[in-house]
Amino acid sequence: MALERGSARRQGYVDSGELERVNRIRRDFVANVSHELKTPATSLKLLAESLEQAIEEDPEQARLFAAQLRKETERLARLITDLLDLARLESEERSEYPEIVDLRGVVMSVLARMRRVAREKGIELRWKRFGRASEYTVRGDETQLASMLTNLVDNAVKYTQPGGRVEVTGGCANGEVFIRVSDTGIGIPPDKLPRIFERFYRVDKARSKATGGTGLGLSIVKHVAENHGGRVTVESVPGEGSTFTVYLPRASGRQEG
Ligand code: ADP
Repeated sequence: MALERGSARRQGYVDSGELERVNRIRRDFVANVSHELKTPATSLKLLAESLEQAIEEDPEQARLFAAQLRKETERLARLITDLLDLARLESEERSEYPEIVDLRGVVMSVLARMRRVAREKGIELRWKRFGRASEYTVRGDETQLASMLTNLVDNAVKYTQPGGRVEVTGGCANGEVFIRVSDTGIGIPPDKLPRIFERFYRVDKARSKATGGTGLGLSIVKHVAENHGGRVTVESVPGEGSTFTVYLPRASGRQEG
């Protein structure tokens, strides 16, 4: 875990207050993770017991328990994957990536994957590009960038009611490439906005859980953007929708090295 610049580690000297703060953050994180893992583990056990009982007595009910068991298992698997991704991202210093990535191509493949989910929910998913396709070049890790954009589009679809719209826009300005994901969904109250990038923070825990959320998606988005020398911003109006924008430094089109 990184110590804040300047105050903590100066010529071998470690401030005890700073150390205590870092230890507290670490303890809170372990407590949070334990809690987040324990809840699905408990419901898996209960569902398995209910399934065992129902198999003889009520096969129809047993089928329902089996479906719930699968859903909870999927969420637990997603939680573990997200935790591992986040741990990897947090252990990396800001990286120097040699690879040039066409961010527009990454957006296209993310949208191709998300289209079916959006259609099933009755949500229109649109893409609008500004500028030339060749301008969307950044230095980075394609897998991480795809995960960042998938989280943003997935959230937009998840937190928008059927009949709504999700629009992904891209462009280049001031030496940066930006990708903007706007939705006409439920929005986020202004007092909650500063906290949504924290690990495990959810505005509405029940809704997040019902939609299979892990509470880690936006932390992953922020880490990927920052590891690439970029940033992410959010604007939202409750009841009208949200707009998340990722800005990354633009790389010249040629691969070096
Ligand atoms: P989750 O797995 O719960 O979606 P995230 O870290 O991706 O976790 O997001 C944190 C919280 O921010 C969500 O629980 C939700 O309350 C809110 N949120 C994220 N994206 C949106 C959005 N597009 N519209 C409304 N709320 C959102």
